[in-house]
Amino acid sequence: MAQEFIRKTVKQTAQANMPDYQQEVADFSWETAAGLLDGLPDGRINIAHEAIDRHLANGKGDKVALRWIAKDGERFDYTYLDLAERSNRFANVLRTLGVEKGERVYSLLGRVPELYIAALGTLKAGAVFCPLFSAFGPEPLKSRMEIGNAKLLVTSKRLYKRKVAALRGELPNLTEILLIDGEENNEDLHNLPHMMVSASEEFVVEPMEREDPALLHFTSGTTGKPKGAVHVHGAVVAHHVTGRIALDLHAKDVYWCTADPGWVTGTSYGIIAPLTNGVTMIVDEAEFDATRWYKILEEEHVTVWYTAPTAIRMLMKTGMDLPKARDLSRLRFMASVGEPLNPEAVIWGVEVFGMPFHDNWWQTETGGIMIANYASMDVKPGSMGKPLPGITAGIVEKTNGGVRELTKPSAIGELALRPGWPSMMRTYLHEEARYKKCFVDDWYLSGDLAMRDSDGYFWFVGRADDVIKSAGHLIGPFEVESALLEHEAVAEVAIIGIPDEIVGEIVKAYVALKPGYEPDEDLRLDLVGHARKRLGPAVAPKEIAFRKNLPKTRSGKIMRRLLKARELGLPEGDISTLESDEQ
Ligand code: ATP
Ligand code: MG
Repeated sequence: MAQEFIRKTVKQTAQANMPDYQQEVADFSWETAAGLLDGLPDGRINIAHEAIDRHLANGKGDKVALRWIAKDGERFDYTYLDLAERSNRFANVLRTLGVEKGERVYSLLGRVPELYIAALGTLKAGAVFCPLFSAFGPEPLKSRMEIGNAKLLVTSKRLYKRKVAALRGELPNLTEILLIDGEENNEDLHNLPHMMVSASEEFVVEPMEREDPALLHFTSGTTGKPKGAVHVHGAVVAHHVTGRIALDLHAKDVYWCTADPGWVTGTSYGIIAPLTNGVTMIVDEAEFDATRWYKILEEEHVTVWYTAPTAIRMLMKTGMDLPKARDLSRLRFMASVGEPLNPEAVIWGVEVFGMPFHDNWWQTETGGIMIANYASMDVKPGSMGKPLPGITAGIVEKTNGGVRELTKPSAIGELALRPGWPSMMRTYLHEEARYKKCFVDDWYLSGDLAMRDSDGYFWFVGRADDVIKSAGHLIGPFEVESALLEHEAVAEVAIIGIPDEIVGEIVKAYVALKPGYEPDEDLRLDLVGHARKRLGPAVAPKEIAFRKNLPKTRSGKIMRRLLKARELGLPEGDISTLESDEQ
């Protein structure tokens, strides 16, 4: 793996919210971090107060909080005051409908302003917000609404007709539907704009206990059936502080998180963290499009950009001409999450934008960033960085009934965290036993394998389920994928292990090619040769299969388990989050 540092300049370091990582680690406490926020009387708290109303009291009401870019390119600005008034109205609408503290409010919306207003209004009312990804089909929608016993759903006429109407018979508890573009009130199909107009724009934010539930988020379903992780209001302390030190958000930033709020990144870092940090955030309604994305970065003067490896690889695939034609000089910090970020992609960032992508690692369960490359810290391409101040991360291995920490540098084991940070999930809804299984000997076990080098940087190895054992070697898919991705023809790659009587498992690669390359025998041999040179014959793939696309979750994660099930003719398991895949 690439071990060379990308060194930070003195300027980058001095201007960062966290100029000195070691110092922050020494000084950090969650109580001090909580002190960066207002809180409410009697030790209470509410995420929406910290995200919105706090800024009004500080005279920032007129600042643009959300700049929405509609699919047709038209832009609409919402100030902090606009969001305050609209979320108050929404909270009042919920009260009119009898929604109580702790009840769950679901949304099924694309990235439209109403989604953001509904999220904030729900939190203000003390209800639990559960965003559903708008591209889900009826089955995943039904199961998620069943698990959370959904009573109220905010959606649009189109999505309602296409996806929800037919499910109503199977969801007897779903009694209130708020349509953002609704017609006249029709029994339980409410016209939200009408209700918003007649609702008061005054609302006293519900003071919540730190431990009161605020959000229900389903995991991506990469390794199996998605789990419903419950997060609490006190989590906002972690959202805020990670926005501050891991994404280096300053109030003057124009910030763009490309994730959809249907996934945890789109809520923690697409709504809460940017707003608590008082930035202007960009929301683009449209799906990925390289030309459009570069245009947004240039025209909106984006300074901080948080995106994902799949998107970065798609940008890499479209080449250098598009970015070279743009003035991207306002960008000053770029981060990535969701999947391993190959060193190639980090270095590409330097070539195209003059700065690396800063990889960070976390999960739906952790609610916020746990391991990161920081603005002031040198980057090792391919590494996830170092634990957040306030977080203790370790590499552990299972023993008889317990776990043992592996302290030797470069030892591979399960990535584990000491519990106790505010944004940790409080349960998997209705799956208490599964939740409890994540905690052993005072460690939270992530299910990912990683290693820590002698400088304290963490390196992702693979999902525990995806690691390959071949002829006595433990092979992490990430390392093999990164090596193949260095080849000029390769756009995407996934590695799996196929059972083999002699060596245990053999390494097989699935490769999607960049435009202009043909999947022929010469290229296959060339790729095998390249991998052998980079990795040695024991680790290099023995088999290579070409695919147009690789199967991914709707949050953009490669589903290696599905490739393996198909390869072995086994049942495909839960594929509710699978994006349509062309084989
Ligand atoms: P499920 O738990 O349902 O199988 P999932 O784990 O993909 O799905 P998420 O919580 O959305 O659901 O994703 C978290 C996982 O994504 C991490 O456990 C890790 O495997 C992967 N991941 C996130 N960030 C990184 C990163 N920077 N490097 C490597 N892997 C990452
Ligand atoms: Mg997971």
